[in-house]
This record gives sequence, C-alpha cells and structure tokens, in this order.
Amino acid sequence: MDFDVTVIGGGVGGLAAAIRAAESGKKVAIVEKDQLGGECINRACIPSKTLIDAVKLLSKADKAKWIGKGSNGELSLNYEALNQHKNEVIEKLRGNLKHTLDKYGVTVIPGRAEVKQEGEVKVGEKVITTDKMVISTGSVPISIPDFPLNGKNVLDPWSAMNLQSVPPKVVIVGGGVAGVELATLFRSMGKEVTILELMPRLLPVPGMDKDVADAVKSRLEEKGIRIILQAKSKISSADEKVRFHVETPSSSEDIDGDLAVITIGRKGVTEGIDLNSLKVNVDKRGYIVVNDKAETSNNKVYAVGDVTGGALSATKAWRQGLVAGDNIGGKQSKMPKYMPLSIFADLEIGSVGKSIDDLKNEGIEVREITVKMESIPRALTVNEPQGFFKLVIGKDGRIHGAYMVGEGATEVINTVSMAMELSATVNDLYPVTFSHPTITEVVSEAVQRAVSGEMY
Ligand SMILES: Cc1cc2nc3c(=O)[nH]c(=O)nc-3n(C[C@H](O)[C@H](O)[C@H](O)COP(=O)(O)OP(=O)(O)OC[C@H]3O[C@@H](n4cnc5c(N)ncnc54)[C@H](O)[C@@H]3O)c2cc1C
Repeated sequence: MDFDVTVIGGGVGGLAAAIRAAESGKKVAIVEKDQLGGECINRACIPSKTLIDAVKLLSKADKAKWIGKGSNGELSLNYEALNQHKNEVIEKLRGNLKHTLDKYGVTVIPGRAEVKQEGEVKVGEKVITTDKMVISTGSVPISIPDFPLNGKNVLDPWSAMNLQSVPPKVVIVGGGVAGVELATLFRSMGKEVTILELMPRLLPVPGMDKDVADAVKSRLEEKGIRIILQAKSKISSADEKVRFHVETPSSSEDIDGDLAVITIGRKGVTEGIDLNSLKVNVDKRGYIVVNDKAETSNNKVYAVGDVTGGALSATKAWRQGLVAGDNIGGKQSKMPKYMPLSIFADLEIGSVGKSIDDLKNEGIEVREITVKMESIPRALTVNEPQGFFKLVIGKDGRIHGAYMVGEGATEVINTVSMAMELSATVNDLYPVTFSHPTITEVVSEAVQRAVSGEMY
C-alpha cells in the first residue's frame, strides 16, 4: 500500500483533511491538478476579500471629511498595483500551505486524479494504492442557458475579478453572497452597478435575517447600486454591450451593461471519479452524500467541501476537512452544530443560527434583543455608526441565533458562534468582559440587556 490516505483535490477542504490525518500519524498524499489552495485561496475568498478590503479604504476615506482629496476632489485607485498586492497575498498563503504540508510529511502529487475502483488512484500513468480516500474536488461555475458565459463580457466571478480593468457599467446576476460582495467591489471602484435578483429579497440565503437583508439593500442603494428584486431576467444579446431583458411583477425593461457577472450556477466536480463503482451515493443534484463525520456510503471513502453540496463555503469545507482527517486518524469528530456566515459587503454582515422566522415555524419561543451600532462607542470612533446586532434567545436563555450588519460583523459573529457551540446561556455570558472600546462590546451589551437593562 503506497498511502494510508489519498486526498483528491488540494482546496481548503482537502488540505484540512490531509494535514489532520498526517498529524495523527497517517501516511498521506494529496493530488492536485491545478494549484494548492483551490478556489478559496486562488480564485474566491482571498482574492475577493483582498480587493474588497482595499477598495473599501477608498469609500471610508471618501466619507472622512478630515482626509484631503486631490484637486478634482476624488481619491484615485491604482488597480494594477492592487492586483499585484492581491497576487502577493495569494502567493504568500500558498507558500504557507506548502510549508505546513511539508512539515507534516504530506506528499503532494501534481496532476489529475482518476478513480475507477476502491483503493486505487490513477494520476497520469501512475497508479497509487491507498487504504482510504478523501474526495475534495470542489465545485465549478456552470454556464446556464439564460446567462451563457462567453469569456469576454459575460463572466463568472473569478474571471470578472481578474480583469485588468473593469468597464463602467456592470450588471450582476444574483443578489446572494457573491453578488453582494462583487457589487460592493465594483461600486467602490466607481462603476455603475445593477443587481438582478430573482427572489423577493436580497441575500436569499438559508438562515438570513430579513431585517439584515433589508438593511444591506438600503445601504447598497445609498451607495448608488441599483437592485431589482423579483427580476426574471435573461441575456438577449452580448456583443459590444450585454443586453438583459428584465421582467418584474410591475415592469418590463431592457438593461445594458459593459460587463455581466453571473454569480449563480455551480456544480460539484466528480468527473473522472467513478462514484458508481465506489458505491458512493449522490443526491439528485449530483453532490456526494455525507454524514456529520464526512463519511460517504463507502466506509473507505470520505468527502468534504463543495463536492458535498449544502453551503458552498470555505468555512464549511475547512471544518469538514478537519472532521474527516480526525476520523481517519482515529479521533471521534463531528461537524459542529453551528456554522457562522460572514459576508464582506459595503457594511459587513455576520450571521449564525436559524432565522427568527424558521425558529417560530418550528414552534420555538424566542425573543430578540436588538442593539443599534450607533450606541456602541467604537462604531463612532471608526466613523461607521450604521447597522445593528440582534441576539435571538430562547425561554431558557440559550442563544439560538445572532445576526449583525455593521462594521466588524464578520469578526463579531465568531464570538457568538463560540458561545452557541458551547451551549452558553445569556446568564453564562453575563460576567464575560469585553475590552473597551471595541465593536465586540455590542455582544456584551445585548447580553446585559437580556439579563438586566440597557448600558449604552
Ligand atoms: C467569488 C467567491 C467568493 C467566495 N468567498 C468566500 C468567503 O469569503 N468565505 C467562504 O467561506 N467561502 C467563500 N467562497 C466559497 C469557497 O471558495 C468554496 O466554498 C471553497 O473554496 C470550497 O473548497 P473545496 O476545498 O471544497 O473546493 P475547491 O476549493 O474548489 O478545491 C477543489 C480542488 O480540487 C482540485 N481537483 C478537482 N478535481 C480534481 C481531480 N480529479 N484531481 C486532482 N485535483 C482535482 C481543483 O483543482 C481544486 O483545487 C467564495 C466563492 C466565490 C465564488
């Protein structure tokens, strides 16, 4: 046997599984046909956040009256330098990963893996024998008939983010996480941005709080982004310009853009892996079915990350990879109860737990405590008083959910996620002290209000 474990796909899910399994003494190989780090590091989370964080500095500086502007009253962006910065961040993270894999003695095998039967992985002409395997082959954007990608001006998110220069008018299809983040990016670069969303609200993501979604919509509109909800749209032509025909319950219009970014439509990658002969079950959309230990229907095969469907997020992929690696290494490990979601929009969003509507539908009695960010001193010192934090509490004081829109929401939400995973009640959290002045004090304030009264 060449390896105890062979991991197919070196994205965040596969890397986590490989590192954890190796850490517990297993002989591990990871096969990657492109670059280590997969979507998240090379094409999605990291490049998008590097660009968004950088351009948000512009909007922050723009609204800061005390910052001097050029003679035309505007700040300027050197997009070439920014792209260079983005590439350096990606390189650095890829280097860190390679270092960790080397440290744990994981063998990296470049090439495309094919699997025809259990226990064997073929890479090029070479056949590797392995006891267990982890399928972590991710997902890819697909071209859908109403929005055919053309590699020119109808692009998937990564291709759009990788353009050397972005044209003036951008139309984004999909008002989900990627749509909202890309709208933030392009608008902060001064582009005219329209979002077309089929559903009646922005961010139609499971568990998303309606008030948060509404607040995000208002903020993006304030920034000049046009958002069309309940938009049944299709591309009618894509030559020099991309023309959309858009129907809503109350209107019908044609919208032209120089660039269309299609954020909807992905599928799991399983080409070359004979799931039938492996006796690995898939769901009706072709995603591999796993339990909360990342086990498939074949006890020699684990699957992690986007290829298992559900939330397509690096947060989940990484955790599922750790769970698979731990279980392979003999440690009992399960997926957590809560998976926080962070969205890096113009005003950040953090969410964990179920939405109030979902909880009510399940017959769970809850109450909510809402704290406006304008009452938190740090939100004023950083000049970002918009937004709110909402804590959803059960009768027994247990926290069922937390939602935030505001500066630092993507960090704050992890604090609550930790408390929820540990089943802490508001009474447990009451004596916990947060340093001052910090944005996280909003959690403390909500807890104080739940147990006693208002402090701020
Ligand atoms: C624009 C955008 C922004 C995003 N931002 C965030 C974010 O901020 N936070 C977040 O949590 N998530 C984010 N995501 C989602 C996140 O990128 C993915 O959920 C995550 O990368 C999935 O990781 P994975 O390991 O499952 O798969 P991938 O990262 O797709 O890795 C799979 C790897 O497998 C390799 N592979 C496939 N088939 C084979 C084969 N046969 N042989 C060898 N190698 C193979 C591929 O080359 C790839 O490297 C974002 C997505 C997009 C599109």
